[in-house]
Amino acid sequence: AKKDGRNTYRFFKAHMNEAALQRLEMVTKLRKAIANDELSVHYQPLFDIATGNLVTLEALIRWNHPKEGWIAPDQFIPVAEETGLIKDIGDQVLRRACADVKEIMYRLQRPVKVAVNISARQFKDGHFDEKVLGIIASQGIVPEYLELEITERLLMLDDPETAGILRRLAKAGVSLSIDDFGTGYSSLSYLKRYPFDVLKIDRAFVKDVTHDSQSAALVSAIIAMAQSLDLKVIAEGVEEEGQLAHLKKHGCDIAQGFLLGRPMSVADLTAKIHQWQMV
Ligand code: C2E
Ligand code: CA
Ligand code: CA
Ligand code: CA
Repeated sequence: AKKDGRNTYRFFKAHMNEAALQRLEMVTKLRKAIANDELSVHYQPLFDIATGNLVTLEALIRWNHPKEGWIAPDQFIPVAEETGLIKDIGDQVLRRACADVKEIMYRLQRPVKVAVNISARQFKDGHFDEKVLGIIASQGIVPEYLELEITERLLMLDDPETAGILRRLAKAGVSLSIDDFGTGYSSLSYLKRYPFDVLKIDRAFVKDVTHDSQSAALVSAIIAMAQSLDLKVIAEGVEEEGQLAHLKKHGCDIAQGFLLGRPMSVADLTAKIHQWQMV
């Protein structure tokens, strides 16, 4: 038994070292990426289902590593959050997104919103509301064109400061959207307690909406609830016509997904300017 115990210990030690090493390597690479400008922002279009109009662009970070190529956000955002690098990265994304949406609106000759994902760590970094409003002002857009996507994880930091920051941002005209709704730590009380404008149904529910009656029931229930709370509803991960038809029938406001448009660079986006209609 003693020997088993030691082997188990050795196993964990080796395992931990490997994980720690990998993490360290990622941190080093990420620091370099920030310094060398390897990070960029792509935009995915969101369409009003009733009119087919482009209404919002979601800003999604992209990392093109000189040797390894594209590295997915899911692989580096968690490390960036743990190390605090997300604060610099997040500021860069926000600044870039505001600048890009201004340019895009100019080309389109009509208003479009930009939605930016916010990590809990970024949010907690003191005076977040002032920072956001400062960036908006310096980029020369009005707060009404910015939407911040917040996950339930952030709201779990249920402190008066969180509530105050969200309230001040909302008051200034920034839209607040609750991301990945239905996953993780859902609590309906969040919707009442904080000044949200938008609810994004997680793509896990959208995926099965046409062939699984439980998913369909859930999506209808979320839409009905959002409507009664006066929130706009966005469905993420729309990949099929059938899903879109279902969402339309049940009164979902906005759709996002590969069926309608992939995330793309500003250059690709502006080249497709004439196609910026859902159908
Ligand atoms: P998210 O906020 O839920 O973003 C939506 C993700 O779904 C994106 O993945 C997008 O490319 C993908 N997606 C969109 N339509 C479809 C579809 O029809 N089918 C499928 N299968 N996927 C679809 P991406 O760009 O890989 O980002 C992953 C996550 O990384 C994001 O999930 C978000 O949590 C995080 N992230 C991305 N950019 C940022 C950022 O600038 N800041 C922070 N804090 N997090 C970010
Ligand atoms: Ca999001
Ligand atoms: Ca509002
Ligand atoms: Ca999401």
